[in-house]
Order: sequence, then structure tokens, then C-alpha cells
Amino acid sequence: MQDFLRRAWAEIHLDRLGHNINEIAKLVNTDKTQLAGVVKANAYGHDDRNIVPFLEQHGFSFFAVSNIREAEKLRRFGCKGEILILGYTPPEYADELSENDIIQAVVSEEHAAALSENASRPLKVHIAIDTGMGRIGLLADDISSCADAFCRISKLNNIIADGAFTHYAVADSYDPDCKAYTDSQTEKFFTLRDELKKRAVAPRHFHCLNSAGGTFHYDERSTIARFGIMLYGLKPDRSLDMPFDMRPVMDLKASVSYVKKLPAGSFVSYGRTYRAEKDILAATIPIGYADGLSRQLSGKADIIINGRRAPIIGRICMDQLMADVTGIPDVKAGTEALIFGEEQTADDLAELCNTIGYEIVCGISKRIPRVIINNGEILDVVEYY
Ligand SMILES: *Cc1c(COP(=O)(O)O)cnc(C)c1O
Repeated sequence: MQDFLRRAWAEIHLDRLGHNINEIAKLVNTDKTQLAGVVKANAYGHDDRNIVPFLEQHGFSFFAVSNIREAEKLRRFGCKGEILILGYTPPEYADELSENDIIQAVVSEEHAAALSENASRPLKVHIAIDTGMGRIGLLADDISSCADAFCRISKLNNIIADGAFTHYAVADSYDPDCKAYTDSQTEKFFTLRDELKKRAVAPRHFHCLNSAGGTFHYDERSTIARFGIMLYGLKPDRSLDMPFDMRPVMDLKASVSYVKKLPAGSFVSYGRTYRAEKDILAATIPIGYADGLSRQLSGKADIIINGRRAPIIGRICMDQLMADVTGIPDVKAGTEALIFGEEQTADDLAELCNTIGYEIVCGISKRIPRVIINNGEILDVVEYY
């Protein structure tokens, strides 16, 4: 018996990732726009160590992460592509960044100046431009002063202004007001590009597209499209009609540990929030909120056993949950249960607990081994501890 089958595990299906990559490549003009793989947070919980090489085999040579530890991990396991850190890195790390050939986002003019002061060798940066996200970057409300600041940064000692990027706030909405907002972000961004051109500053990269931007607001002036969530087969927003059949890459599964008959009137789990109205068959599943399965799903979600839906009954515990399997044939210790995946997606669960699919997959904890599968064949079992 495979070790991971003892309890709970996440299957990472690379063939589904391959499908999503092929479909995403059709959404952009790849002569103008390079696809970048956003692999922050352990590739949204999918195991960066396996996801990145697969993306490299499929033509990706640009990756985005959130911080220097993630970037250096990619380098350590042999990632050859360009790596951009999308968030802040303290200026003291300037040389550690350049030594590892990592591109750093500049969050402000002060940040750029401090990086420059700390750098004893050239450091590539992409300057963040705030066109309406309000998070990081030079404010682009006044294009001329934004361009001034950009030019000052590009002249700093040991700073190579290799690119600029901005991030959309509402590219995942059909609301006309939101569409107009996204358009205004795009226009500010490329007006800045044109203004810089006039001043003979033309960085190699100018990029604005995330998954929703690349799908619903594609603009071939963006030299890079930073695709994250859609690679993993989830939607930027649940309400969106996607242009292709996305295949969720992660299946979260667990083996039933115990099945028992409970007489009418029995209570299940902490707080006695569930009471059986009739005799039921209850299954205990060894997965809980310490594995990243939100306790908010207690009493709301179903799991899938032998192809049938089994409602979660009572509160989800730290390490276990109970489900009503009455009438489902052949449920016994060892039977496989699907928590989410292709049949019931992380986006579906997210809806039930008022969040987004991103948080569901990123939240799957390191207690869950990732079982890497390609076309049904197990390639690797990643245990984080
Ligand atoms: C996370 C992130 C992305 C990827 O967003 P998705 O919606 O997952 O495609 C792109 N750009 C920036 C700056 C990000 O922080």
C-alpha cells in the first residue's frame, strides 16, 4: 500500500496542467506577449518543485513569486528561467538577489534608492506602477511626475530598470463600471510607457495582465501575461464564463477511517450542532482544518464517496470530519473520499465559505503530501515533513 493512502493527500495532475497551458496559450498573441507562470505560495499549494520544471518543459521561461525565499528555492532546484519577485524585499538583500539572477519589484522610489545604496553589483528591477490597485508602486495619477520618478530610478547606481508592471483590481468582473476601471488602469499604464519613450527610456518589459486580465482584457502591448490561478484550473471569479474547459489540477482526497451506524437522536462532533433525525450510516474521514480544510465548511459542504455526495455532518475538527454516507454502497475503512477536485471544484467549496478558490488551494497545509501524477502515473510523492 502506498504510504500516502493511509490518511489524506492532494493529487497534482500534471496532464491537466498541460491542458490548461495549451488553452491559455490560445488567449494571447504569444509573438507579442510572453506567458509567465505565477508560482508563488508553493505554486498555489500545488508544489512548485514539480510545477516549475513542467512549465519549463512547456515553454515557460519566466516565473513570478512573492518573496526572496520562494525565488531562491526555485533557483536551488534548478529553475533556469527568469524569476521576478512581485513583492517587497528588504534592500539589504540587493546583492543576494543579483547573485541569484533574480528580478526585484520596486515598490516605491525610496525602495529603489535603498536597493541602489545596498547594491555592489547591477540588480535588475521591474518598477511597480500603481494605476488603481492601491497596493505597491509609483502612483500613476499624474503621468508626468510618475515618469519623472521612473527616470530618476532608472539612473540610480547599480539599478537596471528592466521593466514596469501594474496589477488590476477588478479585471475579474463583468460589471460595466469595473470594466471601465480596468480600461482606465490599462490606459494610464501605457500612457506612462509612451511618456517614457519620449524621454528615451524604454524598458524591455511593460506588463499588466494577470489571469483575468489576459483572458478578458487582453492587450498585446503587455509584453508578459502573469498567469496564476488559471494554470491550476480555477477561475479568477466564480461567476465568470471561462473561454475554455479548465481542468482543476489538484484533487484533495482522504481514506475513510471508520464507518458506523448511528441511531436516531445521536449527536455528531463538537458543539452537538448535528443530531441524526433517523438512523444513519456515518463515516469518519481523517482530514480537518489543520490540513487546510476550512471549518467554515462544517455542515455546508458535501464530500464525494463512490461517486455519490455525502454531506459533512457536524463541525469539522482539527484532524477529522464526519459525513453522512447513508445509502451509499460499499463504504468502509480505506474507501477513497474526494474533498474537492474535478467533480466538486475548490471554487465550489469557496462559494460555500464565502471566499475564493485561491484561498482554498493555497490553504492546503504542508501536512498533506502532494502526489504528483501525469496521465495516471505517479511521478513523485512530496512529503513536507
Ligand atoms: C498573484 C499575482 C498574479 C497572478 O494572479 P492570478 O489571478 O492568479 O492570475 C499576477 N500578478 C501579480 C502582481 C500578482 O500578485
